[in-house]
Amino acid sequence: MSTDKNTQNFIGTSETYLKNTFADWKPYRIHQMFNWVYHYGCRDFSEMTNISKLMRSQLAEHFHFSLPVIQSRTHSQDGSIKYLLKLDDGALVESVWMPSDSRKTLCLSTQVGCRLNCSFCLTASLGLKRNLTAGEIIGQCMTINEDLSKENAITNVVFMGMGEPLDNLNPVVDALRLMTAPEAMRISTRKVTVSTSGLVDKINDFQKENIHINLAISLNATDDETRNRLMPINKKYPIKTLMDCLKNYPLKPQRRHTIEYVLLEGINDSDEDAHRLAILLKDIPCKINLIPFNSFESSEYRPPHDKQTFKFQDYLIAKNFSAFIRQNRATDILGACGQLAAESQNPSYV
Ligand code: SAH
Repeated sequence: MSTDKNTQNFIGTSETYLKNTFADWKPYRIHQMFNWVYHYGCRDFSEMTNISKLMRSQLAEHFHFSLPVIQSRTHSQDGSIKYLLKLDDGALVESVWMPSDSRKTLCLSTQVGCRLNCSFCLTASLGLKRNLTAGEIIGQCMTINEDLSKENAITNVVFMGMGEPLDNLNPVVDALRLMTAPEAMRISTRKVTVSTSGLVDKINDFQKENIHINLAISLNATDDETRNRLMPINKKYPIKTLMDCLKNYPLKPQRRHTIEYVLLEGINDSDEDAHRLAILLKDIPCKINLIPFNSFESSEYRPPHDKQTFKFQDYLIAKNFSAFIRQNRATDILGACGQLAAESQNPSYV
């Protein structure tokens, strides 16, 4: 694989960019190239035999291929694998592959670190180092698929790893288009979920992109005082503003938002919280994922006792919500939600 730094990485390059750069090419030529790269795994323009030699040499002048490189794999007892991936500049990100009978889900990262500073999330301790490019985002799927056998290939993708996806909107949108395009990676839009802490302006921009990807909103509290403490972004976009944005978000038929709610003992897990949550979500088409807090060493929080978690869920179900307790995955390898960062901080890797 050529990595000539004077050229641009073809992985992640958008259809729009290619159309503008090669204005005289027929659009189906670009689809043929995407098919070669994202479907057949081709990493060399000279192998694209249904494309003219002239076009192939033009491409080779402009582009190289570069993918994240696997630095380490950590296996969880539940079958999940946490990958530590090295990017071109040496930066490290984590992605977690989670198998179940019916699907193989990749949880991928969109930033090195994060700037939102949520008090219950380990990634926050890194601060924001940099945004990932579209190629580095979709490249996580490609590198990991190449590491796995065919029957373990990724079927579902969740943008729930390191970073805030909507704080890195354009590269995330470019990666999503390639991931879901029938001529590129071919993952159904129904099987891709972008999780956000609730950047209202960016949610509106995201909606305008018209890509119909599922959105998960990390709500995590039912009053502004608590949410301000847990998620400082709430001071900019308080709960009512966020709820109004979701109410006005046009959804395709049969689609609904996911509301994520991390349960923290004594902070947001009371019966009153369950009651307020039901009121807040009353007019929003959604399902609710309750996530018992995943601990890490430096954290002041704890997950609730199971009894309270079930009581919280039962209340929501009695109010006719679909409410699920999200099974914790990969907690033994610090691979669960909010636990990504530890290994990338380890100085022995840098
Ligand atoms: N920035 C995005 C995506 C990354 S976090 C967001 O905020 O949605 C993915 C999910 O993990 C979010 O719902 C977040 O609230 C949750 N999370 C973060 N830290 C956690 C922890 N320690 N235990 C359980 N869930 C956590």
